[in-house]
Amino acid sequence: MKLSELFGTDVTTLSFEVFPPKTSSNFDTVRNATEKIALLSPDYMSVTYGAGGGTSEYSVMIAKNLLENHNVTPLAHLTCVSSDKQTVIDRLSEMKNAGVENILALRGDIPEGTELSKCRYHYASELVADIKKYGDFCVGGACYPEGHVECLHASDDINNLRLKVEAGCDFLTTQMFFDNNILYNFLYRLREAGITVPVVAGIMPVTNAKQIKRICSISGTYLPQRFKRVVDRFGDDDAAMLQAGICYDSDQIIDLYAYGIQNVHVYSMNKPYVAEKIKSNLSDIVGKSFR
Ligand SMILES: Cc1cc2nc3c(=O)[nH]c(=O)nc-3n(C[C@H](O)[C@H](O)[C@H](O)COP(=O)(O)OP(=O)(O)OC[C@H]3O[C@@H](n4cnc5c(N)ncnc54)[C@H](O)[C@@H]3O)c2cc1C
Repeated sequence: MKLSELFGTDVTTLSFEVFPPKTSSNFDTVRNATEKIALLSPDYMSVTYGAGGGTSEYSVMIAKNLLENHNVTPLAHLTCVSSDKQTVIDRLSEMKNAGVENILALRGDIPEGTELSKCRYHYASELVADIKKYGDFCVGGACYPEGHVECLHASDDINNLRLKVEAGCDFLTTQMFFDNNILYNFLYRLREAGITVPVVAGIMPVTNAKQIKRICSISGTYLPQRFKRVVDRFGDDDAAMLQAGICYDSDQIIDLYAYGIQNVHVYSMNKPYVAEKIKSNLSDIVGKSFR
């Protein structure tokens, strides 16, 4: 199923993200985790693409397994900054053969020591255009409610995003954010810029204090006071932080649906327990139409 069909309905959706193994030795562990998440019957599951593409075959294998054995629609990520045209064509052909119909087209982070000007691909919009030329895929792109780290001006980032959408993006998925007002303001600016494709809200369940400090220091994501209190108070107690993190995320997602956001994607990071708890907290909300 193409995700553009799913996003065209007026029901609320919930989906989960998983990542592929780094080596063949932990393939089974990762596959088991992704299968447990698939048993929750999410609307779709995204499978990330390792930076540099070294784990690309595992991404496709996980996506294929979700589709063939669990009847879950996969969204396969694909990055391009470390690739040439032929590698991209090879990946697309593998995806097509595996039955993948949905691709999240990304540039990827620029590898250390690499000059962007010397790369074959500079921006995700070039990959989006190539995927659209290659075949009949539904293509998504990433967007950043707080702005992408490389872009100094939010308005430039939105102009660049418009170019990516014009290249053929059918939908966008956001970077994580912990304050919904940031998303609501961002959506307003997108509409003002004429970007009207569906925007899926990406939510990161934060279940341990170290993880959140690391993520925020890398991406510069804003942490609201309410969330900082949760981490400060419960961060040293693993079980308490896990429970508080799941509750915070569930509450954040309910506010998104209440605002009218239809599609929420949870960065479940191969954690079936977290995915299951969030899904169960939303069991009478997801999959329904609210007017
Ligand atoms: C939902 C989501 C999923 C992700 N999944 C993965 C994954 O699976 N694997 C992985 O390695 N990484 C992943 N990432 C991280 C992503 O690869 C990085 O954030 C990367 O630095 C940017 O990728 P992009 O596709 O957003 O790039 P782009 O859309 O190309 O944007 C990158 C930067 O270039 C600027 N820009 C774009 N077009 C132009 C232009 N024409 N002229 C000048 N500037 C321009 C933008 O403003 C931005 O600052 C993901 C990110 C998100 C939000």
